[in-house]
Order: sequence, then structure tokens, then C-alpha cells
Amino acid sequence: MSAQVQSDVSLKPFNTFGIEVKAQHFAQAHSDDEVRELLAHAAARQWPVLVIGGGSNLLLTADIQALVLRMASRGIRVVADDGQQVIVEAEAGEPWHPFVQWTLDHGMAGLENLSLIPGTVGAAPMQNIGAYGVEIKDVFVGLTALDRQTGEVCEFDLQACGFAYRDSVFKRSPGRWLILRVRFALSRVTQLHLDYGPVRQRLSEQGIDQPSAQDVSAAICSIRREKLPDPAELGNAGSFFKNPVVPAVLAEHIRLTHPALVGYPQADGQVKLAAGWLIEQAGWKGYRDGDAGVHQKQALVLVNYGQASGGQLHGLAQKIQRDILERFGVALEMEPNLY
Ligand code: FAD
Ligand code: NAP
Repeated sequence: MSAQVQSDVSLKPFNTFGIEVKAQHFAQAHSDDEVRELLAHAAARQWPVLVIGGGSNLLLTADIQALVLRMASRGIRVVADDGQQVIVEAEAGEPWHPFVQWTLDHGMAGLENLSLIPGTVGAAPMQNIGAYGVEIKDVFVGLTALDRQTGEVCEFDLQACGFAYRDSVFKRSPGRWLILRVRFALSRVTQLHLDYGPVRQRLSEQGIDQPSAQDVSAAICSIRREKLPDPAELGNAGSFFKNPVVPAVLAEHIRLTHPALVGYPQADGQVKLAAGWLIEQAGWKGYRDGDAGVHQKQALVLVNYGQASGGQLHGLAQKIQRDILERFGVALEMEPNLY
């Protein structure tokens, strides 16, 4: 077998929360052949398999009694280019942000609002990653995945992925699909999305009134660096809770006591509330219990100050969930994947 399987491997370097747990078995797959070899190796020994990418959306609460298979396949290729639209395919193990930069460097727009999101290309469809008004579903063409139940390689188009807010068919069937590579439709004719949050304002502060996709990416990177903790310095998994979408009547009820409530009306008549705003109003921003805490600048981000366990972070998350439910009648759903 070309891939190496190691035993009792610390996963601390492989999850951005920096949680110290061990994988009973650990291997990296650089190709489809290595993926197949490793799955067969695990099946022959009746080991469960947990597939990971960059570990930036995981909350690990115990040692993983399985083969942890980290996707490390690399490669970016242009599949079609008619001078206006370009179809680009990237292997699952490609780190996301450098891939976004590669597309921008090659004059392709579409992924700029998704700059500086950690993780890998292969994990991006899992929760239909989104930021600053764009989700990957907006530029998605298709992906190739291995059905771990049958061993078949399957093609998914946009519809088959069932993308929704931080959700997909892959997230709804945990452990079934192993994403091998993903294709995006990008544009040589720039159509920018600037109307979300402080993007336009940041550009105008920089004196840029006719921005390129590269300018938008740079502005978003600068906003994110100011607001979000860098996992290399402070362990975290980004937003810990999804923004809850609630009936308009509940939003109006909360607004009676909290007139400054932040809410965004949705097409279906419901209202998306900013979970970070609710958590901040409840007084959790900057809270710390041992090494588990709520980030000082962004209440939606839980942080590990060093030695917090996954259980401690999960316990803190559950306290916040109970408090928000009692105060506002809103159920917060965790975003990271719990193992
Ligand atoms: P992992 O954490 O390794 O895995 C996540 C899930 O996907 C797991 O269930 C895993 O089993 C599964 N998985 C991984 N790879 C594959 C594969 N190839 N095939 C099948 N299953 C797989 N997310 C956003 O949506 N928007 C943001 O703006 C954003 N900002 C963030 C900022 C910070 C600072 C951090 C730490 C996180 C942020 N995230 C954001 C969350 C996270 O970066 C994304 O969800 C990212 O796509 C996770 O990629 P990963 O490779 O690290 O996945
Ligand atoms: P923000 O700009 O302070 O906004 C707070 C929340 O309000 C966001 O979560 C966003 O929801 C929502 N919002 C803001 N403007 C909106 C608009 N014009 N229309 C609809 N909804 C709007 O948020 P932030 O924390 O700094 O994050 C900025 C962006 O990066 C957001 O899109 C956020 O989702 C993304 N992000 C995601 C993660 C993650 O781990 N998932 C981590 C960091 C940042 P949405 O979240 O639905 O966009």
C-alpha cells in the first residue's frame, strides 16, 4: 500500500480548535487510489473511518477510535474556457484560500467573497460555505464523490447536492460520501457582490470606487483579520452557531423588548437573526471558563485559550444554547461537526 497508516496520532495539529485528542489510526490520501486503498485497509480490519480536510469545522470531544483519513490530494485544472466563463476543477485536498487566490490570479472572478475561509476544497460543499453574501452554490457546477456504501464513483450536479444555508445532502448523510474533487463556474467578466456588511465601506476607505475581484478579496481579508481570531494564535472553528431562521412573529416578539434586534427577512417570510448579536446581548461576549471562552471581538466564535477539551467547549456551547432559548425562545444549532 502506498499510503502510510500510523497509530495513536495526536490530532492537535489537524483541528483548528487545537484540541488534544488522539486518532487510533491516521493516514493521508494523496490520490483516488490511496483513498480506495485506505478504505479497503480499514474495512478489512473493521475500523470505522472519519474523513477530514483542514479540521477547521470540527469539535473533537474524545479520542477517535477509527482511521482518520485526511484528504491531501492536490491539483487545479481548467476544464473549459470560452473567454467569458471558465470551469475550474480542484482536488479535495487543495487548501481553500490558496485555491481562491489562484483563481483570482488567473483573472477569474466568483470566489472573492469567500476569501480567507480555512479548510479544503473537498469540505467546502459539506456546509455550502458562505460569507459576505455568496455561497459556493452560487458558482458551483458539479463534484465527484465516492459512495462509501457501494464503492461507486458518482457525479453530482447543483440540484443533486441539495444545498441550503450551511447545509447539503453530504452533511445530511454523515459518512456516506467522500468528496474527491469539485468544479466551479467562474467568470472573466466581473460581477461583484458588494452590498453585504462593511465591504463597500472598506473599499471606499481605501479610495477604491471601481474595485476588481482582487480588491474585494483584499478588503474582505482585511475585515476578517480584524474581527476573527487566527486559529494559529487562538484555537477556534469560526462561527460556532448557525444564524437561526425564525418565524417573523417570533422576531417581532423579541423586538418588543429588544428594539435593536438584528434580523434579515428571508424570501419565505421568515427572518434570519444574527446569532452573535443574541449571544452578545445575553452577556456572553468575552466570557471565559478555564481555557474555554467566547471571543472578545465576536460572540459567535468559541475559542480555546490553550488546554480546553472538546467536552469543555461543548459544555460551554450547551450553556449558551440553554440561555438563548430561555431569554429569546430561539434554539441555536451548532455549526461545527461534533465527534
Ligand atoms: P473539516 O473540518 O476537516 O471537516 C468538516 C466536515 O466535512 C467533517 O464532517 C468531515 O468529515 C467532512 N469532510 C471533510 N473533507 C471531506 C471530503 N473530502 N469528503 C467528505 N467529507 C469531508 N465556514 C463558512 O461557511 N464561512 C466562513 O466564512 C467561515 N469562516 C471561518 C473562519 C475561521 C477562522 C474558521 C476556523 C472556520 C471558518 N469556517 C467558515 C468554517 C470552516 O472553515 C469551513 O466549514 C470549511 O469548509 C471546513 O473545511 P475543512 O477542510 O477544515 O473541513
Ligand atoms: P457580520 O457582518 O457581523 O453580520 C452578522 C450576521 O448578520 C452575519 O452572520 C450575517 O449572516 C448576517 N448579515 C449581515 N449582513 C447581512 C445582509 N446584508 N443580508 C443578510 N444577512 C446579513 O458577520 P461576521 O461574523 O463578521 O461574518 C461576516 C461573514 O462571514 C458572514 O457572511 C458570515 O457568515 C461569514 N463567516 C462565517 C464563519 C463560519 O464559520 N461559518 C466565520 C466567520 C465569518 P450570514 O452568516 O448568514 O451571512
